[in-house]
Amino acid sequence: MSAVPDIDPIPLAALTTLRAGGTPERMIEATTSDELVAAMTEIWASGEPWLVVGGGSNLLIGDEPFDGTAVLVRTRGIERVATDGDRVRLRVQAGHDWDDLVAYTVAEGLAGIEAMSGIPGTAGAAPIQNVGAYGQEIVETLVEVELLDESTGEVETVTAAELELGFRTSVLKAHYGAGARRTGVIVSLTLELTDVGAGEIRVRGSQLRQALALAADAEVSLAWIRDTVLATRARKGMVLDAEDPDTASAGSFFQNAIVSASFARTLPDECPRWPLRVEVDSVQVIPLDSYDGLVPPPASEQSDVKVSAAWLIEHAGLGKGFRLPRSRASLSTKHALALTNRGGASAAELAELARYIQQRVQSEFGLILQPEPVLVNVEL
Ligand SMILES: Cc1cc2nc3c(=O)[nH]c(=O)nc-3n(C[C@H](O)[C@H](O)[C@H](O)COP(=O)(O)OP(=O)(O)OC[C@H]3O[C@@H](n4cnc5c(N)ncnc54)[C@H](O)[C@@H]3O)c2cc1C
Repeated sequence: MSAVPDIDPIPLAALTTLRAGGTPERMIEATTSDELVAAMTEIWASGEPWLVVGGGSNLLIGDEPFDGTAVLVRTRGIERVATDGDRVRLRVQAGHDWDDLVAYTVAEGLAGIEAMSGIPGTAGAAPIQNVGAYGQEIVETLVEVELLDESTGEVETVTAAELELGFRTSVLKAHYGAGARRTGVIVSLTLELTDVGAGEIRVRGSQLRQALALAADAEVSLAWIRDTVLATRARKGMVLDAEDPDTASAGSFFQNAIVSASFARTLPDECPRWPLRVEVDSVQVIPLDSYDGLVPPPASEQSDVKVSAAWLIEHAGLGKGFRLPRSRASLSTKHALALTNRGGASAAELAELARYIQQRVQSEFGLILQPEPVLVNVEL
């Protein structure tokens, strides 16, 4: 059994991109999967509270000291585990930097995650909220993860389907006000990518083509896609940059809201909206013993609608750069969805701004925006 690698605890503000968070009672830095397993086994046996930290780019942690152990996942490594024709499987250790992984796949001519260039954080956290950008999401390439499951204490192979990845969610994500449906730590993940080489390819997905300003039949290289995505994201403050205070954020703080089609009709026509995918061929099953010759109408033929949280915030009168008097937290000057720390803001100041935004949007449009990052010891 590996030794558990304790380190002197430091404030979590130094390890999160929102730059907030108190010092935990205990801190562990796992640089191998054996150390990670040993640490979690010990913590779970003790019954103490625990928190796994990857790149800290999707966490808002309260200012009070965290009353438990923070486990920093610092494992590294990418392995080519299988090749079948043009399909290539990579196994990636959880602590590996996500963007370093994307750069590797692009350099190797492997297509599938290039549009997610520039997303901060670790590979192991990517399935937690099914990371995505420009219409590409990890659900499209994720095969399985090795999960150290808290309920069994074992490392289990869990398929992508079992993780129930959805829009910025999975069974492993703790949403505001609700714990994760399954708890554990991702030790590694396996992706299946397509070997397209260094040549030019036609870009799949209208959202990505639109973001890249490409015609439907245009052909470009993976490297070109990566460079263009990085430049586009940087203009919006969505690539970490110590020199750019607009990037001291957790990316989008609020999720686009999912509302019923009838509620969406109450919003102004100009509010951008996208219908969610409908199951066109869902089958209604009526048990034989309750079949009385009548087929009831389908419960609902209207799909839910995703509406732009950025539009709602800006049209509630909170423009880019908005800040409350005397607060050191503000909206990004480049992106209305990103809450930013302008230097020394506490978690309480960030939460105060988040609450204010929620209240303004609710009183203007009647819906409550939900935070996207995981909140620890913070109430909205
Ligand atoms: C500037 C900026 C831009 C961003 N842009 C995007 C974007 O375009 N699309 C997008 O989807 N997200 C985006 N994000 C959010 C964030 O980068 C992603 O959610 C990322 O996957 C978080 O990775 P992390 O390692 O930093 O996770 P952390 O913040 O460290 O952790 C997030 C959650 O995952 C858990 N976790 C971390 N590692 C593991 C593990 N190995 N096993 C189990 N649980 C774990 C943590 O406990 C926590 O609950 C952005 C963030 C920033 C700051």
